Amino acid sequence: MKPFAYERAGDAAAAVAAAADGATFLGGGTNLVDLMKLGVAEPLRLVDVSRLPHDAIEETPAGLRIGAAVRNADLAGHPAVRERYPVLSQALLAGASGQLRNLATVGGNLLQRTRCAYFQDTTKPCNKRRPGSGCPAREGEHRNLAILGHSEHCVATNPSDMAVALAAIGATVHVLGADGPRTIPMPGLHRLPGDKPQHDTVLNPGDLITAVELGAPAPRSTYRKVRDRASFSFAVFSVAAAVELDGETIREARVALGGVAHVPWRAGRAEAVLTGAPATAETFAAAAGAELDAAQPLRDNAFKVPLARDVLVRTLAELCA
Ligand SMILES: Cc1cc2nc3c(=O)[nH]c(=O)nc-3n(C[C@H](O)[C@H](O)[C@H](O)COP(=O)(O)OP(=O)(O)OC[C@H]3O[C@@H](n4cnc5c(N)ncnc54)[C@H](O)[C@@H]3O)c2cc1C
Ligand code: SF4
Repeated sequence: MKPFAYERAGDAAAAVAAAADGATFLGGGTNLVDLMKLGVAEPLRLVDVSRLPHDAIEETPAGLRIGAAVRNADLAGHPAVRERYPVLSQALLAGASGQLRNLATVGGNLLQRTRCAYFQDTTKPCNKRRPGSGCPAREGEHRNLAILGHSEHCVATNPSDMAVALAAIGATVHVLGADGPRTIPMPGLHRLPGDKPQHDTVLNPGDLITAVELGAPAPRSTYRKVRDRASFSFAVFSVAAAVELDGETIREARVALGGVAHVPWRAGRAEAVLTGAPATAETFAAAAGAELDAAQPLRDNAFKVPLARDVLVRTLAELCA
């Protein structure tokens, strides 16, 4: 690892000023420090934002405001989150391990980098790490990479479970940048790779995530994750779903998919089929088909399409039962 300077920011403005001067934000360090050890990230100066006073979970008139420095374990275990946003609590608990969740922050979780093996190996080309060098994953190891929204330049997936839940809930991300504060609705923080896969999000360099705000909770919500082993493993496929029923009819449905794209994938086609339809097996199958018929699997990940279809149908059926 290359030598680097470490400092703690006194407040958000000082952190943003340090970033404007070339510093890199450090949250819990559970992703960034790994990337530094691998030589993928080589910051000369770290500014620790995990100790900023952004560590509260507060009630708002509509929902909750979650500070960006709140640890994943604290968020997952918070009574209001467990009771009103089970999809978020379940997604967090499906991610990483207990020790990692004790360190990982909300801001860092949203901005963790892809686990594509070529991205993490500095001896290999990778358009995300070194723009213009190529994407060996397309023809190489891509079993766990994207089936939706990928480009010829990058087929990576976003690794965050929490982001999938937030995309379904429809959260708002609060950001402080050099030009002041602004908000970004989820989904919308992350971007598809297109011809610029080096950019994971719409953030500008030096933008600090300060909080995530949740709106009114759906009456029913859930998160289901398929992975290669029961713990400590990223999603092969996941679904976050939130629904409101009116008798046997689906009044509103919000669905997001994980492990399938460069972004937490909001399943708008599935939602359009579900909204106003009877909560039946036929509706769930039609919704899954509407979303996944658009999939463009690669050579070795076509198995994700029927997997996603089946898991989505089962998850919706259980949620609406
Ligand atoms: C073995 C292992 C298994 C894992 N399994 C899973 C899993 O199954 N599911 C899952 O979702 N995650 C998983 N993770 C990833 C883990 O959730 C992330 O590493 C963690 O959430 C990152 O949070 P952090 O605070 O440690 O971020 P850091 O590593 O500190 O930072 C990550 C990035 O965010 C930036 N950053 C941090 N805070 C801010 C801020 N407030 N504003 C702007 N930028 C900021 C940093 O500069 C850096 O670029 C796993 C990690 C490991 C090591
Ligand atoms: S899929 Fe993306 S991250 Fe992986 S090698 Fe290709 S460009 Fe790099």
